[in-house]
Amino acid sequence: MNCCIRGAVTVEENSKECIWENTKLMLNQIINENNINTDDIISIIFTCTRDLDTAYPAVAARELGIVDASLMCVQELYVKGSLEMCVRASVTVETEKKQKDMKHIYLKGAQKLRPDIVKKSKTEAVAIDGPAGSGKSTVAKLIAKELGYIYADTGAMYRAVGLYCIKNGIDIENDTEIIKALPLINIDLEFVNGLQKIILNGSDVTDEIRTQPAARAASKVAAISEVRVMLVDMQKKIAEKNKVVMDGRDIGTNVLTNARVKIYLDAAVEERAKRRCNELKEKGIAFDYDNVIEEIVKRDENDKNRKVNPLKIADDAEVIDTTGMTIEQVKNKIMDIIRSK
Ligand code: C5P
Repeated sequence: MNCCIRGAVTVEENSKECIWENTKLMLNQIINENNINTDDIISIIFTCTRDLDTAYPAVAARELGIVDASLMCVQELYVKGSLEMCVRASVTVETEKKQKDMKHIYLKGAQKLRPDIVKKSKTEAVAIDGPAGSGKSTVAKLIAKELGYIYADTGAMYRAVGLYCIKNGIDIENDTEIIKALPLINIDLEFVNGLQKIILNGSDVTDEIRTQPAARAASKVAAISEVRVMLVDMQKKIAEKNKVVMDGRDIGTNVLTNARVKIYLDAAVEERAKRRCNELKEKGIAFDYDNVIEEIVKRDENDKNRKVNPLKIADDAEVIDTTGMTIEQVKNKIMDIIRSK
């Protein structure tokens, strides 16, 4: 049967790039949240408010590979006082599901058009992003415990791929070699008392991935699109099956775009380096402060500037600067945010 999915998103400026980028964001979410195949899309009617006149949103659909569907763009009926700078879509799709099961997507400023739908469609997850040493993992574990959710550390998955490369003599500068090795890398996650154990090809590497070389390798492999596709898919499945607190670099912007709570943690680089040193000390791993700080700066640079899913603040994330804050204070602040949602 045919069902119809509604979507809307506001755009920051009346430019081609901005209209296309936001239209893709909305369409990707319509496709992912409803598990649809782009070949099953029959038609899309796009409307734009009259203040958007630099591009047809349908171009973004074509760029996403939606080529057989009938696409049409029309100008929105102008109503005084209504939401401005908005692209809307009505997507007709062939599916086995019923119309009542369709998940409609309202993003950014458009969320206020349908707060009822937005609330219903949020995933019961807490997404925590931020640079290395911002305190994500310590605080995420505490929050998971308090909420009774599992804690998923996505950095550990990139570290496991990095560790595999180190152990198997794969040059981490050589993307082609790494991509070739991916089918040989089997990562399993086990959750014991809510905490994650990471199993690489049958061996528990939970502690082994914590070294600086593994972190360096993780940051390199994380820039490869094929690696990210494999791991992001696993991460989404974890969140489908469990209530989860998940931390990483792209959780709010890419993995769990629909998470009910999104947090971005940051802190001054010197403080982040000190925290990392304390962590290494506690684990009995040798370190040098100057090396640690250099490593962090390099990783920040890699993570923020890579082409695929770089580290950035999600539009709907709450930013917390944890410099000078205790773990307890950060945890309490996040719990207050969670309670308010
Ligand atoms: O958080 P952690 O330091 O364990 O992450 C190791 C590396 O994995 C990061 O520097 C980053 O390059 C990569 N990563 C990522 N996306 C995530 C989590 C981690 O790119 N969601």
